[in-house]
Order: sequence, then C-alpha cells, then structure tokens
Amino acid sequence: MAGSETIINILGIISTAAIIALAVMNASKLKKIQDLQKAVDNLNESLNEMDEQAKMVVRTDMELNKTQEELDKKIIGLYALQRLSRAISTTLEENQIFNMLNSTYIIEDLGFEKYFIFLWSEIDKKFKLSLNIGYAKDESKAIEILINNNKDDYLKLIASQETISSVQNKSADNFKVHSFVITGLYPKEGAKGFLFAGTENKDIVITEGDQELITILANQLAQALENARLFEKTWGAQQELERRVEKRTRELSLALEEVKKISRRKSDFVSSVTHELRTPLTSIKGYASILLTEKLGALPPEVKARLEKMNRHSDELAQMVNDLLDISRIESGKVTMKLETQSLKTIVQEASELLMVQLKDKQISLTVNIASGIDNILADLSQIKRVFINIIGNAIKFTPEQGKIIICAQDKGENIQIDVTDTGCGIPENARELIFEEFYRAENAVNEGIKGTGLGLALVKNIIEAHSGKIWVTSLISSGSTFSFTLPKGK
Ligand code: ADP
Repeated sequence: MAGSETIINILGIISTAAIIALAVMNASKLKKIQDLQKAVDNLNESLNEMDEQAKMVVRTDMELNKTQEELDKKIIGLYALQRLSRAISTTLEENQIFNMLNSTYIIEDLGFEKYFIFLWSEIDKKFKLSLNIGYAKDESKAIEILINNNKDDYLKLIASQETISSVQNKSADNFKVHSFVITGLYPKEGAKGFLFAGTENKDIVITEGDQELITILANQLAQALENARLFEKTWGAQQELERRVEKRTRELSLALEEVKKISRRKSDFVSSVTHELRTPLTSIKGYASILLTEKLGALPPEVKARLEKMNRHSDELAQMVNDLLDISRIESGKVTMKLETQSLKTIVQEASELLMVQLKDKQISLTVNIASGIDNILADLSQIKRVFINIIGNAIKFTPEQGKIIICAQDKGENIQIDVTDTGCGIPENARELIFEEFYRAENAVNEGIKGTGLGLALVKNIIEAHSGKIWVTSLISSGSTFSFTLPKGK
C-alpha cells in the first residue's frame, strides 16, 4: 500500500511538474507570439512608408517628364523664333514680312496652328487683316467683322501693352480655337495692331512660356514693321529728292544752253563790232602817222602834240579791240590752241625781257624758281607768253618801287602749278573773283589812276582754260598778291 501511495505521489509530483513546465512553455510561446506581432506591425509600417515613397517617386518622375516636355517645347519655340527673326529681318517691305511668316511654316513650331494680325487703319478707323494663317476666307471675314464690332476693346488691349491668354471661353469659340494668346504690336512708326495665336488642340495648356514666346514674336514683328516703314519713308524721300534733282538739272541745263546761246551771240557781236572798228581805226592811225611825218606840211607844235596823243590813243584802242577780239574768239572756240612741249623757264625769261624796262624803271627785283625737273609744259607758245606778259605786267603795275616779284613752279601730278607773287597793293576780297571778268577793275587800280582796260585777266583766264588749266588769286591788302595757275605737263 505504501508503495502505491508513493507511486501516486510521484505521479502527482510529475503531473504538477508537467503542468508547471507546460505553463512555463506557454508563457514563453506567448511572449514569442507577441514579439512576432510587433515585428509584423513594424514591417507593415515600413511597407506603408515605402509605398508612400514609391508614390512620391512616381509623382516626381511625372512632374519631371512634364517639365522636360515644356522645356523641349520652349527650346523648339525659341529656335523657331530665332529662325523667324532672321527671316523677317532680311526684308524691308511690309507685305513681304507677312508673306514670309505665311510661307515659312516655322511659325507653327511655336505650338499654335492658327494666327492672325490686324493693323489699325487711321484713315478708315478700323482694323484690317494683314496676316491669316489657318483660317478659311469666310472665317477670317467673320473674325474681321467681329473685331471691328468690338474695336474699342482691341484698341484698349493695344494701349495696355499686355499679353493675355484664354482657354475655352466665348472669345475662343468666336475664333474657332480651344485656347489662344493675344498681344499688341506697337511699332514706333506707322500703324499699331495685334497678333493672335490660337490652337484647337484641347491637350495644350497655355503656359507662361507660350505667352512669352508670342510676346517676343510680336516685338520682333513690330521692329521689322518699324524698319520697313522707316525704309519706305527714306526711300520715298530719296526718290523725291532724285526727282527734284533731275528736274533742277533739266532746268539748269536748259538755262546753261540759253546762257551758251547768249554768250555765243555776245561773242559774235563783239567779234563783228571789233572787226568793224579795226578798219576805221587803222585809217585814223594811218592818217595821224602820215601827218606826223610832216610830209604833207609842217605842223604847229600844238597840232603835233594833239596828233601824237591821237596816235597813242589809237594804239591803245587798237590793243583793246585786239584783246576783245581774241577773248571772243577763244570763248567761241574759234581759236584752237597748238599744244606743244615748251620750256617754262624760256617762256618766263622771254616775257621778263620784254618787261625789263618797266622792271628797271620801278627797281623791282624778279626772282624765278623753277626746278629743271618741272620745266616742261604743254602749251601754245604765243598764247602762254601773253599770259605771262599780262600777269608779270600787272605785278609790275600794282607793285610800288623797289618791290619784289617771285615766280615759282610746283609739281602737281599731271599739271604744273605756277605762282606769281608780288609785294604790291593787294586785291580787296570782294574783287578777287570779279577781276577775271571783262572790263572789271578793282578799286585799287581805279583809285590810284593806274592805266588799264580790265581785259588782261579775262584774256588770261580764257587762254588758261583753253589749256584745261585753272587760275585763281590769293591776296593780302597792302602786302601783295599771288596769281596761281595750272598748265598740263609737257612730254
Ligand atoms: P587792267 O590791268 O588793265 O586793269 P586786268 O584784267 O589785267 O586789267 O586786271 C583787272 C584788275 O585786277 C586790275 O584793274 C586790278 O584792279 C587787279 N589786279 C590785277 N593784277 C593785280 C596785282 N598784281 N595786284 C593788284 N591788283 C591787281
């Protein structure tokens, strides 16, 4: 019995131990389950976070794609603008600018397929269509009517200098588009207006970038229109000027013809009068000379003195008549210059020898500076000698005693320039041109009672011009004058 009790006790102990062990095991399992649950919760949380992050990545990616698309659009637009700008800046005609926009198709790269431009006509007080891309004729006619019915709104829009855009609204419907941009054109010269760009594409959302592109295009167009108008103005002014110059030239050549005719008539008249004068003059002089020989009888001293005066005066008159005749003959081209190579030094020497008496009388020194390299001139010997005799003769006449005369020559390319300088009374400024005209004598000569006819320089000028030369004078009152003239170089 005792044995069975012991067994029972042992069993009891064992079962208690087992129960305890079980309980302990359960407790640890529970703990494990709790830990697992926690881990699962943590995992769930991480999963949610990852999900959120993934969504964010997708969103960012989409946005990036959109930005990239917009960037691409903008680059295409800017590139198109650059090409358009280059194209329209090459033309200076308003119509051609619009034709170019219409024909190049570049404009479509700006993201719109419909465009129009209206310009305000100050004369008709209404907007006129200048560009139409993408609209049929009747559609553009309807739009023109619509715009002119609301012209004040458009004039206000131009004045506001704003760019506006619009998505599907009444106006967009009127213009048969889904969205559009509209902006003013304000060239500094000529008519103002506005540019419209629209699209029927419902997927296109007009961005600030689109507005910017259209505004830049409008500015470029305004600049091109301004240039075209300025060019038109300048061109018009130039044409007008050319027309007036042409008219004036015609009038002047008619007047010149008339002057030439009168001058020819004058030369003919002088020529025939002087010719007629020579015959009686010769007989007067002849009779006076015969009488002076006293072969026809002795003359009382008073008669002789008067006859000598008559003789001298008829010499002077004959000289004057000859000069006049020469001037008129050279002027009318009846005298041709026999151009041959001559030595300048020799001509000057011969002329001064002829004037030696006058030079000595007034004790005037004459210096000649002609380098041997420029000694040759192409001239008619007898005519050029007259030139030197006249100019040196004048220099002696108008220079006080013990004065100086210097003759120099300079190389002037195809010509030789000769300067005859004196230390005489000088010539008043207002007379410097006139002394080359027939019978003109400056006050200095008249006042000082110096003899002369006023024909010498007119003859000189005619001879020099017949040699294709020029003559002019520089002078300083009371200091002297320099007569300069050019002659062609000899061979
Ligand atoms: P003339 O000597 O017979 O008066 P010219 O035609 O030779 O006619 O000259 C015209 C005028 O030019 C002269 O009257 C004189 O007033 C002026 N003149 C010409 N040469 C000189 C000179 N060397 N110095 C000052 N005046 C001169």
